[in-house]
Amino acid sequence: MEILLLGNEQLRQKAERIKTIDGEIKSLAEDLLDMMRRGKGIGLAGPQVGRALRIFVVHVDKDTPRVFINPSIIETSTETVKYEEGCLSVPGIWADVLRPKTVRVQAWNEKGRPFNLEAGGILARAILHEYDHLEGVLFVDRLPEHKRDWAMKKFEKSRPHVKGKPPQG
Ligand SMILES: [Zn+2]
Repeated sequence: MEILLLGNEQLRQKAERIKTIDGEIKSLAEDLLDMMRRGKGIGLAGPQVGRALRIFVVHVDKDTPRVFINPSIIETSTETVKYEEGCLSVPGIWADVLRPKTVRVQAWNEKGRPFNLEAGGILARAILHEYDHLEGVLFVDRLPEHKRDWAMKKFEKSRPHVKGKPPQG
C-alpha cells in the first residue's frame, strides 16, 4: 500500500459506504494509522491509499488516534477560520485554507460502535480535510484560484518525474 499523489484519478472518486465493519476494515484502519504516522501526518483517508471506502483516521496532538467509518457531517459552524494545511497526497505544499471553526460528526469506530463528536481547533480541521477526501476533494481545491495555480505549479515542478504516474519508491 502506498499513498497516492495529486494527479492520480483515484483521489477524485467518491468513496463508497462500508457495509460491514469486519476484520478487514479493522486492519485497513490500522494500516491507515501506521502510514499516517510514517508520513508524519495528522490524518489519512481510504482513497489516499487506493481504497475508495468511507473511512479515515485522525490523530492530532494531545488526543487519541480516532477512526471514522461512514462519517456524516451533522453540523458545521457558520464561523470560519483560516489555518495552514498540508496533505500527504500533495507533499511539499502548505497553504491557508478557510474552513468552519467547529464541526459535529457522527460515525462508527473500528469496533463497529457508533459515536458523535463535536470538535474544534485542529481536530475539526483534520476531520473536515479527511472528510473531503471521501468526496474526492483535495485541500488545493479550496484555495482561491491564484493560490491554487501557485500550488499546482509548485507541486508539478517539484516532481516532474512522477507527473501523472503513480508515485515511485
Ligand atoms: Zn489530505
